[in-house]
Amino acid sequence: MSPLPLSGTDAHAVKKVLLCPGDAADLRELGVQLGHFGYACEPVGAPDLLAAACAPEAPAAVLLDCGALCRLPEATQDRLRDLALTVPLACLSGDGRIEARLAAARMGCRAYFVRPLDMAVLLEALDRLTSPPQAEAGKVLIVDDSPSLAGFYAAHLNQAGFVTQVVNDPLRAMDALADSLPEIILLDMHMPGASGPELAQVVRQQDAFLSIPIVFLSAETDMGRQREAMSQGGDEFLQKPIQPEHLISAVRTRIIRYRALRALMVRDSLTGLLNHTNFKERLRIEVARARRQGKALSVGLIDIDHFKRVNDTHGHPAGDQVIKNLARLLRQRLRATDLIGRYGGEEFALALPDTGLEGAEALLDDIRKRFAAIEQYAGKTTFQCSFSGGLARFNPDQPDRGEADGLIQRADEALYQAKHGGRNRIALAGG
Ligand code: GH3
Ligand code: MG
Ligand code: MG
Repeated sequence: MSPLPLSGTDAHAVKKVLLCPGDAADLRELGVQLGHFGYACEPVGAPDLLAAACAPEAPAAVLLDCGALCRLPEATQDRLRDLALTVPLACLSGDGRIEARLAAARMGCRAYFVRPLDMAVLLEALDRLTSPPQAEAGKVLIVDDSPSLAGFYAAHLNQAGFVTQVVNDPLRAMDALADSLPEIILLDMHMPGASGPELAQVVRQQDAFLSIPIVFLSAETDMGRQREAMSQGGDEFLQKPIQPEHLISAVRTRIIRYRALRALMVRDSLTGLLNHTNFKERLRIEVARARRQGKALSVGLIDIDHFKRVNDTHGHPAGDQVIKNLARLLRQRLRATDLIGRYGGEEFALALPDTGLEGAEALLDDIRKRFAAIEQYAGKTTFQCSFSGGLARFNPDQPDRGEADGLIQRADEALYQAKHGGRNRIALAGG
């Protein structure tokens, strides 16, 4: 079994996907396309060979195309069913009828794609199937001067899958908050050093923590004092003693809401990337860090070429898919510490810490080539797109303009050059 020739193979979190059967020409082409998005595809001859192919190292997913699954021999069906318990199995089929879908679902297939394949849909499902479940139920900071009570709550929350941090000294709460970035704070009311409402007030005075849910946990029964506490920035008041199930459910609900709100506030809805405002905010932090630590930092702006034409020719939804594909490629190719923002309609911004201009250029140029090789889908037709990019490096000696806005401006000037130089290229800003 030799891997398909792939242009997308690299050290960046490549996920192995098995394609079965391995001899179908269109599956080979599919493998090449998936390669652009970080899936290293390997062909497997027949369904019976899948278990052995999964044994040395489990793949991230298996894409199976074997006609009517229910017509496979019983023993093969059993093997597939066993396999589906440990590896995400997805079915490709020409048959979109409910009977065929049911057979696949009963076999344990977690996704079902009907030909002709829509790459965008397939990729989205693959991303979902192969990404680890959200790390944990949520991060909880418990501030309570009673170690036993705090420990009791923590134990129950931990058991429910939450990650907890306990602080018994309210004066240490701010450090814990900045270090562990919790998604909810459970605050005792009466503590020596600082009361719960006082602490809530201090937390709320910092923009970064304006939206974090604060729940008071207290034996306080006086309604007036409860209301007073809430007016200092609390979101909810839970009366001690509280049943662990009630606490867990209140915490869960708050965290789900908090995540949804944050996603709206900082993420772009089409691509899941940082939005314009938040990209700039985060870039300022990175510029300050680069200055403080004397480290390199490169900033890039990317703009899709002739995008208006894409919309005009293939329709707005196809254009949206192109934007999503580029976002996915960027996420896949860049490090977790890099910033990726959707800066405007078909414009993206990047910040690469610890990366000089040369390294940034090599990386961005590689992404450019991969993007240009992707077959974009619009119904049954396919087309290709390119982008142009401009790069600037953080230079502490730059007269103004070593600041975030100056960096973006210089990257934008370089982007303008790339466009005028003929597009589908990367240009570098001087300085
Ligand atoms: P250039 O190579 O010079 O960048 O040409 P261009 O056509 O890409 O540039 P122009 O700025 O003229 O057009 C950009 C187009 O992008 C216009 C706008 O309708 C489209 N666009 C912006 N945001 C979106 C979006 O979210 N979805 C889609 N489908 N189109 C968008
Ligand atoms: Mg533009
Ligand atoms: Mg454009």
